[in-house]
Amino acid sequence: MTAASSKPETRIQGIGVSPGISWGLVEILGNALEEPEEISIAMSEVAGETNRLSTALVATREQITELQQEIIAEDSENSAAIFDAHLLLLEDATVLKEVKKITETQLKNIDWAYYSVVKRYIDSLRKIADPYLRERAVDIEDVAKRVLSNLRWSTHGTVPGQLSSHTNIVLAHDLTPSDTVSMDRSKVRGFATEVGSQTSHTAIMARSLNIPAVVALHKIPEACSTGDTAIIDGHHGVVILNPDPNTQLEYEALAEKERQVVSSLDTLKDSPTETADGVNVTLSANLEFLEELTGVAEKGAEGVGLYRTEFFYLSKEELRSEENQTANYREVAEATAPHGVIIRTLDIGGDKMCPELYSTPEPNPFLGWRGIRLSLDRPADFRIQLRSILQASAFGKVRIMFPFISTLEEIQRSKQHLESAKNELRDQKIAFDEEIEVGAMIEIPSAVMIADHIAKEVDFFSIGTNDLIQYTTAVDRINDRVAALYQPTHPAVIALIRETVDAAHRNNIWCGICGEAASDLRMTPIWVGLGVDELSVGSAQLLKIRHAISKLDSKGCGTFVEQLRAYGTAGEIERHCTTFAKDFYPDLFI
Ligand code: PEP
Ligand code: MG
Repeated sequence: MTAASSKPETRIQGIGVSPGISWGLVEILGNALEEPEEISIAMSEVAGETNRLSTALVATREQITELQQEIIAEDSENSAAIFDAHLLLLEDATVLKEVKKITETQLKNIDWAYYSVVKRYIDSLRKIADPYLRERAVDIEDVAKRVLSNLRWSTHGTVPGQLSSHTNIVLAHDLTPSDTVSMDRSKVRGFATEVGSQTSHTAIMARSLNIPAVVALHKIPEACSTGDTAIIDGHHGVVILNPDPNTQLEYEALAEKERQVVSSLDTLKDSPTETADGVNVTLSANLEFLEELTGVAEKGAEGVGLYRTEFFYLSKEELRSEENQTANYREVAEATAPHGVIIRTLDIGGDKMCPELYSTPEPNPFLGWRGIRLSLDRPADFRIQLRSILQASAFGKVRIMFPFISTLEEIQRSKQHLESAKNELRDQKIAFDEEIEVGAMIEIPSAVMIADHIAKEVDFFSIGTNDLIQYTTAVDRINDRVAALYQPTHPAVIALIRETVDAAHRNNIWCGICGEAASDLRMTPIWVGLGVDELSVGSAQLLKIRHAISKLDSKGCGTFVEQLRAYGTAGEIERHCTTFAKDFYPDLFI
């Protein structure tokens, strides 16, 4: 580790989005989209200006393609796919038409015209509540910076973000994909950003590049300057600036331990997931983007336990056609064979807004028109999705799952729609799996309380803890201010999960968990003790969870969860389950 700085140690808490520990000297990337000078031009200069734009677009295309090839050569298909989207943005006809119109009618230089059009798009995307769509602003900004740079220099010049020779930790307001890949990554050991979330590009890229990252470090700009030293703790979402010698030693030891743990887990890739006393748990992975599919298989996942279809659906309107949805679901079905995939129908709403579907803003989006409510109210689109999922089921093991179920009628009506879609396909002689299994997401307390009724309608339950926690405790899952009250170990949450699993088993169906709590190593003994049949987790956590399960005894865990009934606070349950877990797999707690 680098020598200790004379500045005092500062710890800043953010969100860990790519696990791991690293340290080094900090370099701050200036990342703003700079406004070019506004210059008035003569009519005779218009043609020259539009030619300059064409040249800059060609240069930008070459640069993006080059980056893409470089990434493919490094075997990182996930990241490479992002540049396909950039190429499409670069050639967006509406944007280019508007830019040329400004130059032609207002007689302004093309740099300024381009900047003003693109800036307007970026600003309006940033106002959208849906975090995924907000992230698209980063893509547009990324492409725009390249185009403006090429316009400025009229050459294939380098892009912003060139790192000095010593850089180890990159700090930025946010990082765009090409900022990330155009860096000399041999110099990058960690990312720290002021903004961002689990779905931010920093998170996606860092995970795929296997570089520790922490985002949402709101206090970092004032606290840090280039040349400081920093430790990135991606496990706990902490950045430590100018660590003192004791902290340095502590983290060096942790990093060594982590290296040993990760390499020892590799041997579990092809192992079954079972407890020490031989009880099987299906361990599958969550999926948001097709690009993640390779990683899912490489980590030894037993299929995909939750495919969140809304992300691809919201990204582009043309992807919503029956043909494109079928192709998308088919790809996942084929890639996850023989285990298969649970495809969740659209869960738009809440923090995943689709502005064109809402004529007036939702007064309370998380309690409003979301998930299955939206699908049932929009039968034409629901039908297309159901037909697509059914068609994909001819190419692999596909299960279908309905989100945000709060009443029995919703599951019954959803199944009627599914039956109509099946009948249509039969009439058209289009193949699908006649035995396709149907599941309900249990993520609303009312669904837990009528779980016996719902269980009679479906083949499985999958518990969405992310929402179950927020609806049980009345804590908005995306509101920073009440984050401390968002408690996965709240006794009421555990009681509702216990009741859901019991109701499933009373009715001879299986029950999984697909919320983030499934990936929480401290809670694995609870899930084993309750008899949960499946855990669907983030692929980075997969082998750790498999290892944890292999160390646990199902009967011991059963006794342990019974003992937890004695506690009335989340803190007590958290302490007890952490202690229990650490007794059985201390090596996984870094
Ligand atoms: C959940 O609520 O736990 C879940 C898995 O679904 P989402 O996070 O997409 O709401
Ligand atoms: Mg949910």
